[in-house]
Amino acid sequence: MNDHLVRILSKDGSLRAVAAATSDLTRTICQLQGTDPTASVALGRLVTGTALMGALLKGDQRLALRIEGSGPLQRLHAETDADGRVRGSVKNPLAGLPPKADRFDVVGAIGKAGFLHVIKDLGLKEPYRSMVQLYTSEIAEDLAYYLTTSEQIPSTVGLGVNLDETFAIATAGGFLVQAMPGGNEALIPLLEERLKQLSPITCLLSEGKSPLQILEQLFEGIPFTVQMETTLEFRCNCSRPQVAGMLRGLGADEVRAMIEEDQGAKVTCEFCKETYAFTVDELTALPQLKN
Ligand code: ZN
Repeated sequence: MNDHLVRILSKDGSLRAVAAATSDLTRTICQLQGTDPTASVALGRLVTGTALMGALLKGDQRLALRIEGSGPLQRLHAETDADGRVRGSVKNPLAGLPPKADRFDVVGAIGKAGFLHVIKDLGLKEPYRSMVQLYTSEIAEDLAYYLTTSEQIPSTVGLGVNLDETFAIATAGGFLVQAMPGGNEALIPLLEERLKQLSPITCLLSEGKSPLQILEQLFEGIPFTVQMETTLEFRCNCSRPQVAGMLRGLGADEVRAMIEEDQGAKVTCEFCKETYAFTVDELTALPQLKN
C-alpha cells in the first residue's frame, strides 16, 4: 500500500479524524538518518504524527514538530507541508538503549524531561510557535496533550512503528481523532470504547487494511464524509540558493575561517544529507566580506 492519509469529518461536524500509512516514508527517513532500532521507532512515531497533523494544514502552510529531551537522542525534528511532503531528522541517531519489558525504550531515548515545540508557517509575517512540556515522552500522548491543551481541541493520537528482523521499518502508521468544539459529546464515550478495542494500527496495516478502512471501523454507525486523501512522501525542499542564503547570514569572521582553514565550505543538509560545496571564490564574493 502506498503511503497516504485520509481525513474525515462526521456528518454532524462533531468528530474529525485522520489515519495514515507511513511505512515507506519513515523507512526512507530512518535510513537517511542512520538510526538504531530505538531511534527508528522514536523518529518513525514523530514523522507519522507530523504527517497526521499536516492533514489539518491548508494551501502553502507548513508544520514542524521538534522534541528536545534529556535522553540520548537529544533532538528530533519533523516537518510537512499541506501536500504530504515530509522530512525528518534526529540530532543523535544512536539511542544505544536495550529494550525494556520487550519494547523499544522510546521514553528512555527521548528522556522524560523536555519540550515539544510546534512551529506553524501559516503564511503570516511570523510563524506561529508553541511549546509544551513532554507529557509521557511516548510521542502520541505528547501530541494529544499539545492538541488538547494548547489548541483546545480534545484529541486522541495513536502511532505505531514495527521493525522487521533487520531492524528496518516494516510497518508504520497512525490516527488522530478530535472532538470538535460544540459537537455532540454523546459520541465521545462511544469513540473511546472503539479506540480501546482497536487492534494496534501496525497490525491493521499489515493485515492490508487501508487508512480509510481503519476509520470506517472506528466510525461504524457514525455517518461521515471523506474530506481529503493525500499521498505522503519523503521530500526535502533544501536548495543551493537556500544554503547560500544561510552563508550570507554568517559573520564575516566565520566566513574568513572557512576560506583560510577549509579552503571552501561544504554544507550538508541535515534531512536529505545532500552536500553543497562552495569554493573560495564564491565565499569571497559574499556581501559580508565586501566591507
Ligand atoms: Zn535536504
